[in-house]
Amino acid sequence: VRKFFVGGNWKCNGTSEEVKKIVSTLNAGEVPSQDVVEVVVSPPFVFLPLVKSSLKPDFHVAAQNCWVKKGGAFTGEVSADMLVNLGIPWVILGHSERRLILNESNEFVGDKVAYALSQGLKVIACVGETLEQRESGSTMDVVAAQTKAIAERVSNWTNVVLAYEPVWAIGTGKVATPAKAQEVHSELRKWLQVNTSPEIAATTRIIYGGSVNGANCKELAAQPDVDGFLVGGASLKPEFIDIIKSSE
Ligand code: 13P
Repeated sequence: VRKFFVGGNWKCNGTSEEVKKIVSTLNAGEVPSQDVVEVVVSPPFVFLPLVKSSLKPDFHVAAQNCWVKKGGAFTGEVSADMLVNLGIPWVILGHSERRLILNESNEFVGDKVAYALSQGLKVIACVGETLEQRESGSTMDVVAAQTKAIAERVSNWTNVVLAYEPVWAIGTGKVATPAKAQEVHSELRKWLQVNTSPEIAATTRIIYGGSVNGANCKELAAQPDVDGFLVGGASLKPEFIDIIKSSE
C-alpha cells in the first residue's frame, strides 16, 4: 500500500556544472519503474528550473523550503504559490537544519506544512531528535510533539511523507541501526494511528534520513515501517542509484 519513496536532499550544494552532471547520472541510471519507487530530488531553489527541465520525467523535484503563507513583503523568501506556478510538485519542510540553525518552531513548521498543502504542494515533513534528547530518553516525546504540530493543522495526509531524521545521524556517518530506525518508525505509525486515523497511519510513508548510503540502505529498507529514505550527502553521488534500488 505504501510506495517506496527515495528523496535526495542536495542541501546548499552544487554549481550549475555539478548539477548537470548529477542530473545526467540520474537520467542514465537503471532504476525500478515509478509504480514501484517514487524518486524526488531537491536542489537549491536557483537550480530548480534547470533540474526540472533536464531531469527525466520519471523523477520529480522538490524545493527545500518555502514561506509560511502567501508571498508579499518577505525579503529572501520563496512562496508555495511560486513553486506551484513553476510546476514544482514537492517541498521539504521542517528539516532539522532549519529547525535548529534557523530556529523554526514546531508551530511554524506546522503552519508551513498546512499552507503548502493548501496550495497543492506535496510535502516531505521532517522530524527528529538531537543526540542530547535521545540520551535523555525523550526521543518519542520530541518526534511526537513535532508531528502533533503538523497533525493539528492538517487533516488530509495523502500528500504528506513523514521523514524521520535523527539529528545525530545527519552528516555524521553514524547511521541509525535498522532496529533503532524501525523502533521510531513503528512508534510514529502508532502515534498516527491514535492521533489521526488508522487509515492515515497505514498509508502515510515514513522515510528515514541520516547517513544513508549505498552500503547500508538495503538492510534499512527491509524494515517493515521504513518506507524509503531522505538522503543527503549520498544523493550527490552515483550511489544514489543504488539507494533508489534498495527496496528490490
Ligand atoms: P546525510 O544523508 O548527509 O546524513 O543527510 C541526511 C539529511 O539531512 C537529508 O535530509
